[in-house]
Amino acid sequence: MTTNRTLRAAIACALALGATAGLQAQTLKDLTDDQATTGDVLTYGMGYANQRYSPLKAINKGNVDKLTPVWTYSLNNPQGQESQPIIHNGVMYVTTHTSTVAVDALSGRQIWKQDLEFASDVFKMACCGLLNRGVAIYNGKVYRTTLDAHVIAYDAKTGKQLWKSKAADYKQGHAMTSAPLVTGGALITGIAGGEYGTRGFITGWDPETGKELWKLYTTAAAGEKGGDTWPGDTAMKGGAPTWLTGAYDPQLDLVYWGTGNGGPWNAEARKGDNLYVCSVLAFRPKTGELVWHYQFSPNDPFDYDATEVGMLVDMDVGGTKRKVLAQANRNGFFYVLDRANGKLLAANPYVKVNWADKIDMASGRPVESAAFKRVRAGEDVEIFPSVLGGKNWQPMSWNPATGLAYANTLNISWPYQLAKPEYKQGEWYLGVNFRGVNMPKDQPHGYLSAIDPMTGKSKWQMAWPGQPSMAGTLSTAGGLVFTGSATGEVIAVDAESGKKLWQYQTGSGIIGLPVTWEKDGKQYVSIVSGGGGVWALLGDERMSQTPAGGSLWTFAIR
Ligand code: CA
Ligand code: CA
Repeated sequence: MTTNRTLRAAIACALALGATAGLQAQTLKDLTDDQATTGDVLTYGMGYANQRYSPLKAINKGNVDKLTPVWTYSLNNPQGQESQPIIHNGVMYVTTHTSTVAVDALSGRQIWKQDLEFASDVFKMACCGLLNRGVAIYNGKVYRTTLDAHVIAYDAKTGKQLWKSKAADYKQGHAMTSAPLVTGGALITGIAGGEYGTRGFITGWDPETGKELWKLYTTAAAGEKGGDTWPGDTAMKGGAPTWLTGAYDPQLDLVYWGTGNGGPWNAEARKGDNLYVCSVLAFRPKTGELVWHYQFSPNDPFDYDATEVGMLVDMDVGGTKRKVLAQANRNGFFYVLDRANGKLLAANPYVKVNWADKIDMASGRPVESAAFKRVRAGEDVEIFPSVLGGKNWQPMSWNPATGLAYANTLNISWPYQLAKPEYKQGEWYLGVNFRGVNMPKDQPHGYLSAIDPMTGKSKWQMAWPGQPSMAGTLSTAGGLVFTGSATGEVIAVDAESGKKLWQYQTGSGIIGLPVTWEKDGKQYVSIVSGGGGVWALLGDERMSQTPAGGSLWTFAIR
């Protein structure tokens, strides 16, 4: 009897523990383990390494043609949708620029929704689309950023707002669009506004209270280390925005965060390297202390933002396993850096490039081309890649079985000529005769590319018909790459061959980020649909055949 009672008590205790574990708040260990734990998606990038790779293979090359929608949910928002779903304990969290929602991951039923309101002049400051890229989750709270440069914490269970902190004054041209990163006692956020003569920074917040813990400015002011790379006080309007989410290596305790263009675009107005524009910064999450940096495009005039920081990959480099940071830079080169110290290991073009002849491996600096010299002399020159880059904001993914990086790349140029820069608060500060982009005739405008990081060469490319894709990619152990098209199809492609194996039309354009997860042995794929973003500003008239309307989709094999 005693034994029975002890047993019953033990079982009750185990059940209680189990139940608690199910509802348990997310710990740093949970976030660190995210890539391997397939029942949830807790981080932007599907793991701190930002590989967007899942070991799941229930959906694979042999059955992906049977993939079908399980549910769809209206985001009630006509803007571009770039939010990466976060999934924990059966609940999916997604953002738009005006709302945050919690949805039952199996049924698609709404659990809670929180709306945001903005002053009307806020929308003027968002250079490239009214959007948001998703939440961070930690210790029972979900966190998001806002277009008017605030950070908000909600109770993950109820949606109750717990704190709201101001990162910057939106009237100066600052905005926030990306998902925060939580690690090392800090909630870390970036800032947009590189086109508005702002000064970029990265902020660390106390995740519990929203108190600012540290602030790392991304332009070096006069008197600071690197301050001599700017003339006068030009660093104070020098740009280097930080508008996408960084990656984190727990062993090295380094956060990697990309920075964007210098302000104004016209680099003749800020002669010098302009640290730390168009760079990657490696820093300590607890303090924001900068440990190393690598500048991809010194004195960049071409808006080659390096904000999409890339992936942390352990890969073979010349016969040795190295811990690297792999980045498909907007400037058209694919970089491989030693992520312990920033040493350059490879830099090769992955799209057509004419602004630089090559990257000098000894100095790590680009060798400026004849075309670049003509730009500096004030001539009107066609430059590859365009302002949109060889790849824009959309993250790539990694498949360790193929050793390839899967990215939606662009084959677009732009006419470039310097003009006189003029600063007006809250307006674009370019100093360039900006006339949009040139779509090549008789050639695809973009590809889904399977890139060898060390050579920049593609093993295969799938040409997008008509418009290129600005969607992220997802790789799986099922041998698949998932992504989406500007015309609304979610697609699955064979990671080895580039052959399209499945597609489904979601009703609007796709510029979102696919994720995959499992529940009770069944694998699901989720993605937001909703055309827009920077492509809508520069896209051609074919966008007119893509209806607006944000929605959230989940697919499975029935
Ligand atoms: Ca996980
Ligand atoms: Ca920019």
